[in-house]
Amino acid sequence: MTADGKLGRATRLVRGGLERSPHGETCEALYLTSGFVYASAAEAEARFKGEAEGFVYSRYGNPTVAQFEARLAGLEDAEACFATASGMAAVFSALACQLSAGDRLVASRALFGSCYQIVTQILPRFGIETELVDGSDLAQWERALAPKGKPAAKVAFFETVSNPTLQVLDLPAVVTLAKAAGAVTVADNVFSTPLLLRPLERGADISVYSGTKHIDGQGRCLGGAILCSRAFHDDRLLPFVRHAGPALSPYNAWTLLKGLETLELRVERQCRTATAIARRLEAHPAVARVVYPGLESHPQHALAAELLEDFGTVLSFELKAAPGQGKAAAFALLDALELIDISNNLGDAKSLITHPATTTHRSMPAEERAATGITDGFVRLSCGLETPADLIADLEQALETAALAAAG
Ligand SMILES: *Cc1c(COP(=O)(O)O)cnc(C)c1O
Repeated sequence: MTADGKLGRATRLVRGGLERSPHGETCEALYLTSGFVYASAAEAEARFKGEAEGFVYSRYGNPTVAQFEARLAGLEDAEACFATASGMAAVFSALACQLSAGDRLVASRALFGSCYQIVTQILPRFGIETELVDGSDLAQWERALAPKGKPAAKVAFFETVSNPTLQVLDLPAVVTLAKAAGAVTVADNVFSTPLLLRPLERGADISVYSGTKHIDGQGRCLGGAILCSRAFHDDRLLPFVRHAGPALSPYNAWTLLKGLETLELRVERQCRTATAIARRLEAHPAVARVVYPGLESHPQHALAAELLEDFGTVLSFELKAAPGQGKAAAFALLDALELIDISNNLGDAKSLITHPATTTHRSMPAEERAATGITDGFVRLSCGLETPADLIADLEQALETAALAAAG
């Protein structure tokens, strides 16, 4: 037990939210059911009115999904959690449930490709005005959140550590500015996991996860979750998600429950591997720059050290290349790797590498890509659970091939 009388984190990861059935099963029960039956018509009426306890339909809630929600909520001491079918369903629902035509949304420019599409393409179609800022520039946040001659922003949205440029957001400072403007803060905390950073503890209103990434972490299923206050859950989120229907499948909730049990062991190991690889790449002659919050060379290293419990499982780097040869060098590197797989997923047991400019960030305008540092020679590496020396050997042999392509 910890000093405040709460169970320790590793215990909560394994036992949080566990609701055993009368059978006393060891493992969390998988309630693979869409609906529920009632002993009487009056009982059905009472449950629909919310006057009787119990589930009514798995789009609203399900006993296996509820165990996952309770376990994840326990990691951030969140009052409430709603699990979704994917991380993007969580991002979209957290924003769409509280924004209406005429509202303003301010977001950091350093965003995952699909988050960028929601903010810049989808929400504006419904009359929501969105403004992008340089997430590391507090003056830009302040101006955009409470502009002169315009209504203040309703919502501030950002990734706590951005995908794939690993920009670390000054969360306490942005939360203070948002609160002053009366804006609700929505933090996409996918890269940090609730182990490295807990946005709600730092004052954010809503914390959003992709279960697909580290929580499953074994490439098996999609999932997501929204952590928030009881009031936001009941008054804003539930009236939206019950009818919009982004619910998580019970089977995937069960898979994610098992993923949480080993999350701490995996993330600790992956952070250690990422640090070792980042240091090795930083000294490599074929590499122009390495972006990893744990390196002293990272522009927000001091902030990362203060905010994060560890520096993360993902790193990015840019290959040295003659002008116009960045893409050829990056493709040569990816194709020469023998162990590390080419894949746009991350947080997985298997180490995965991707070229954001031609995949996840392909639909971002070239000038926005340039502004966020996603150049043609830029690649993102998600460190898995393999033996670190094997990963380093694989990268070093592939970097030799990449160096030949980089010369043109
Ligand atoms: C992957 C990712 C998402 C979306 O998660 P899915 O489960 O793939 O829908 C959202 N935000 C960030 C930062 C991500 O990396």
